[in-house]
Amino acid sequence: MKLLLMVASLLLLTLIPAPQPVQTVDVVFKNGNVYTANDKAPHAEAIAVKADRIVFVGSNADAEKYLLQAKSMRVVDLKGATVLPGFTDSHQHLSGVGLREMTLNLEGITSLEDFLAKVKARVDQAKPGEWVTGRGWIETHWKPPVFPTRWDLDKVAPNNPVILGRADGHGAVANSAALKLAGVDKSTPNPFGGEISKDKQSGEPNGMLLDAAQGLVRRKVPPTSSADAERAVVLGSKRNVDLGWTQIQDAGGGYADVEIFKKLYEAGTIKLRIYKAVYGPGPSATRLMNEGATIGAYGNRFTLRTIKVVSDGALGSRGAALLDVYSDASDTKGFLTVKAEELRPMLVDALRKGIQVETHAIGDYANRFVLDEYEAALKAVPAAERKVADPRWRIEHAQIVNPADIPRFAKLGIIPSMQPSHAIGDLFFAPSRLGMERLAGAYAWESFIKSGVIVPGGSDAPVERGEPMIEFYAAVARKDQKGFSAEGWHPEEAVSREQALKMFTIWPAYAAFEENLRGTIEVGKLADLTILSADIMKIPFPEILKTRCVMTVINGEIVHESKPQKGT
Ligand SMILES: [Zn+2]
Repeated sequence: MKLLLMVASLLLLTLIPAPQPVQTVDVVFKNGNVYTANDKAPHAEAIAVKADRIVFVGSNADAEKYLLQAKSMRVVDLKGATVLPGFTDSHQHLSGVGLREMTLNLEGITSLEDFLAKVKARVDQAKPGEWVTGRGWIETHWKPPVFPTRWDLDKVAPNNPVILGRADGHGAVANSAALKLAGVDKSTPNPFGGEISKDKQSGEPNGMLLDAAQGLVRRKVPPTSSADAERAVVLGSKRNVDLGWTQIQDAGGGYADVEIFKKLYEAGTIKLRIYKAVYGPGPSATRLMNEGATIGAYGNRFTLRTIKVVSDGALGSRGAALLDVYSDASDTKGFLTVKAEELRPMLVDALRKGIQVETHAIGDYANRFVLDEYEAALKAVPAAERKVADPRWRIEHAQIVNPADIPRFAKLGIIPSMQPSHAIGDLFFAPSRLGMERLAGAYAWESFIKSGVIVPGGSDAPVERGEPMIEFYAAVARKDQKGFSAEGWHPEEAVSREQALKMFTIWPAYAAFEENLRGTIEVGKLADLTILSADIMKIPFPEILKTRCVMTVINGEIVHESKPQKGT
């Protein structure tokens, strides 16, 4: 009997092939509700990570082989939490997000009285003559929804110069003390790309400064100290990571930001990935063309290969450049903020040097102008003469596009980079600014996707809150946060949840030339994960807004973790 057993087991040993040695891993995530954004294998339960890469995606059963190792790996039991590829904010202003936490934050104010009360409280703490700055106010829901004036501010700030930015960044209100210091009066001409708003009766500046006109006053404000600028980046990065963003695409700024980012990466202070653009045409753009791109520095965390151009203002402040006059202001079509003769040579140079260009365009005229300029440059420099054959140039916002221009994006290979939350905020005033007809090509996400382009999604924070769940909700619901929608909101332009998932994962990766590196949960890609308290691919729309980020993983490292609360 004993002998028989021995023979049997020997037989078995020879019959069963020796098990393949299992690769050692660092972290195993199991019991997850994993959406991979990979069409070939859209769903999984477990992920294994080694160093900064995903090495396994599959079922809990298949992940068992890793758990048998006696290695000191971390095992994270997700208990059914929803796992998505690390979210990317395709359009954000990182230091602006940080500064918003540090200066007078005027978001969420619902009336002129509250606005003035908040300003007064701040002014009362300031030393005599000290500047008071802030941003974030928006009059859309005030009654009546009109801009504040210098005279309103003078009541609470008679002695301190004050300038307060509208949430969209394209307008600001200054008080009389600030205008005086800047030498802005009745006779000051509008600067190029800006407008000094005037009182209709007296012709006096009323305090509202649009786009480039803000600079007249802002250049008198003492610059942010380098310590404060650094603190803003640290605060902004932390906020982003806690909310579940694993990369932000920083839409503008200059080399001063780049120096701060490098310093903070070198010290290991920030973990967030930053895909950086610098403003152009101008000295930063020239420097980028001369020095060349930086790609994938600090563990693929930092890339600088893009120039940001601003071609017009915003719709709320009537600075967006339209083909026809505003429906509620028949004396204006808005204005361009870049000169074609400065833009053209820069575009040609960028193609030859392999530099990406992304251009802010809100109005239908600005969008057509940018498409025309891009098209001319692409024609002037054929693919063989470009350093990067498919340059993946972008139009940021692409908010109001003449329907005839929508197919031109796919034809030219231009990427519309769009912000869902803009639609659900702007659609309160867009019908009066534009009239019903022009809304057919406004915030037209689904029309764009159907036309054959990808639509990377972003928040434009600090213009908007900058929260992934607000953006995802806005994209799929296309209603305001209370569920409100009205005539002209074009519900058919909402996207499916599968599309929305791509808007914040693989599409931004593509728009950053990183589709082989990140953006899906796939073996070989960087281990970036956004882990949520609820299944946003299934729950009713309002519950998306209540969903929280329970864990953020960047390069395989858990950089944010909060205890999941029961019942959510
Ligand atoms: Zn922006």
